[in-house]
Amino acid sequence: MKYPRRWNHLMLGTLALLSFPALAAEGLHGERGVLTVDAQGISLAPASATCPAITARGEPMWALLMQPDTPPPVAGAPVVLSDKGQQPQREVTADGIRLTYESLTDGKRTWRVGVTLAFRRKGDAFEVTGEVRNNEPGWLMCGFTGPVLHGIRADLATHPVLMPDGLGRQINRMTDDKQGASEVATVYPSRKGTMQWCAFAGEQGGLYFGCHDATHGAKTICVRRDAASQAYGLAVKHQVFCAAGQRWSLPPTVIMPYSGSWHTAARYYRAWSEGIVQPLAVPEWARNASGWLLCILKQQNGEVLWDYASLGKLCDAADARGLDVLGLFGWAHGGHDHLYPEYFPDPKMGGEEALRKALHEIRQRGKRSILYANGQLIEQGTEFWSKAGQALAVLKQDGAPVQQTYHKYRTTAPFRFGLGCLVAPAWYDRMLALAVQANALGADGILYDQLGVNEPLACYAAGHGHPVPAMVYVEDRVRFLRRIEEHMRQVNPDFIVMTEGLHDSVLGSISLFHGCMTGTFAVSGQEMLARLHRQDKSAPFPELFRYTFPAMMTTIRMPTPMLDRAMANFTCAYGLRFEIEARYAPDRRYLCEERVPGADEYGEVINKPDLALMKATPPAAATRYLKQVIEFQRAHADLLWLGSFTDDDGFALKGRNLVAKSFAAGKKLGVLIWNPGDQPATFALNVPGATLLAASEPERGNVEALGPLPPQSIRLLEWQKKE
Ligand SMILES: [Zn+2]
Repeated sequence: MKYPRRWNHLMLGTLALLSFPALAAEGLHGERGVLTVDAQGISLAPASATCPAITARGEPMWALLMQPDTPPPVAGAPVVLSDKGQQPQREVTADGIRLTYESLTDGKRTWRVGVTLAFRRKGDAFEVTGEVRNNEPGWLMCGFTGPVLHGIRADLATHPVLMPDGLGRQINRMTDDKQGASEVATVYPSRKGTMQWCAFAGEQGGLYFGCHDATHGAKTICVRRDAASQAYGLAVKHQVFCAAGQRWSLPPTVIMPYSGSWHTAARYYRAWSEGIVQPLAVPEWARNASGWLLCILKQQNGEVLWDYASLGKLCDAADARGLDVLGLFGWAHGGHDHLYPEYFPDPKMGGEEALRKALHEIRQRGKRSILYANGQLIEQGTEFWSKAGQALAVLKQDGAPVQQTYHKYRTTAPFRFGLGCLVAPAWYDRMLALAVQANALGADGILYDQLGVNEPLACYAAGHGHPVPAMVYVEDRVRFLRRIEEHMRQVNPDFIVMTEGLHDSVLGSISLFHGCMTGTFAVSGQEMLARLHRQDKSAPFPELFRYTFPAMMTTIRMPTPMLDRAMANFTCAYGLRFEIEARYAPDRRYLCEERVPGADEYGEVINKPDLALMKATPPAAATRYLKQVIEFQRAHADLLWLGSFTDDDGFALKGRNLVAKSFAAGKKLGVLIWNPGDQPATFALNVPGATLLAASEPERGNVEALGPLPPQSIRLLEWQKKE
């Protein structure tokens, strides 16, 4: 093992300072490196140069936050205590190193807060666990940051950081802010932090950093760059409360050098995750659904865009495009984003019987319908708010309700909402009743909007059935959705539960996600080429979640009543499900009359669809190509819908400016190649140990497998493996 000179120097300094026994300073010897824990912090000497080394330089290894344990409003900033200035007991255990801090000091006074951190080898990896014991009367621990790694000597040019932002984000460069540092953080579980791991991912190997927290606790995973040293840091910041007299267990944090591509790291996290989240048996119809046409029937301002009797026309529009599901938003009396959480069939749209008839006819036509409910919003100022809603709302540290505002038209006042606390039994009852109602009306599922979007919150309200304060929208959200899913499965095994956004904590209850996260939004061919060549500081990297959880199904997000060739090809290449949206009257005219609207037709609408996109492709051409790509997927559903997304595993491609993704189904491997450019592309493709069965394209049918791929086109090559 070769240590850099500076590192040796620091090691000697450490030994002299704390008189650690020589044995302990040698650290933990793993298969893939040596992890050292000393007064400098946590260092790693990896066995292979393909993993970045970590050279700690004496910065804090952990910190915890304390606040007075009083009812809201809680004033003042929390007190920060860290490992700096403490005197831990250090033990070498059978399998690792344990640091025990019996109490803590801030330099002025002693805090009766104990901390234990344990470092041990675990297979190829190193694991950090621990515990905090709060015995400080009148004080609450309100956060724990750790373990913190400093001095990661990585070059992002060769080892970009992969972060679980949405479907994934690749960080190619980090630039400094005015303080000389820069940080990328993801808050889990939310659409901004969909998994509990990240990696410095080189082509031949890298560094995995993951928190294997089976309770899906609230946490931020941060990557930081220090301008002076040009080194990187990694930290887990746990948002957690621990009252006096209680203990809190630090969930295992795993530090692992790995060899091979980032897929090794993804499979490692997947293997852990599969042990804690039961896979969901998604109904057959949903697994074979191309995607949905999202439609707002009645808008926030009361304008009815589609009454129940007109849903046959919506079916026609979906048929013309190959879309199998109708997502019915604003279907209730209040319209979209108004009067939540009360949802009654609207007499102005034809009443309950007309709605039942419409939903029945949708199914008769071979389509499915999903009814909307917002999983969290309670409109303020309504009768429901004053009678019941206020008591169910999440309260902040200052005692006021958390508030969100939704504003669709410049000419109307914004509507304000509180957030239902998912722990409160009455909120669960209300939400379950909406699923039962949707099923009874004849829908095939319910969407609980936003539950895959929002970050965890601290709730300071009494009477919800949780300690005060408590972190909510964490494991309570997992239980909330799982209970509803399990209940509805008994009522109707074909009924599905959906939500907007994504995080892996709810994979056990959500059949289909309504995409609203990084990696699901519109991308052009040129943007795709920039991603391929890593031209931008950071870019969406949807491979990350798709490969880690290949069975997960999500729609893309297109708040426009059409999509172009690039987005159709992207959706197919990444194995996602389609969506387009009709939210306003001009959108309906586009769908039904192929009329491209001007901006003025949207009047006072604040968030208009992508008008430039609608103008760039003739409506008939956009409709035709979407249908062709969906029919192509349907014809190859064994691979493209039901197969496993295996990214670039299993094949070797020679060719520039091409996206190629593989899908595995038994002995079959499909390689989907997309040419996002404006020129025909030549390529060579080899699948070792397999014979080519066929090659086809959506528009041209069977084609010569290795012939030039036309611009803005996709081709599927199907191979049969011998073994
Ligand atoms: Zn609460």
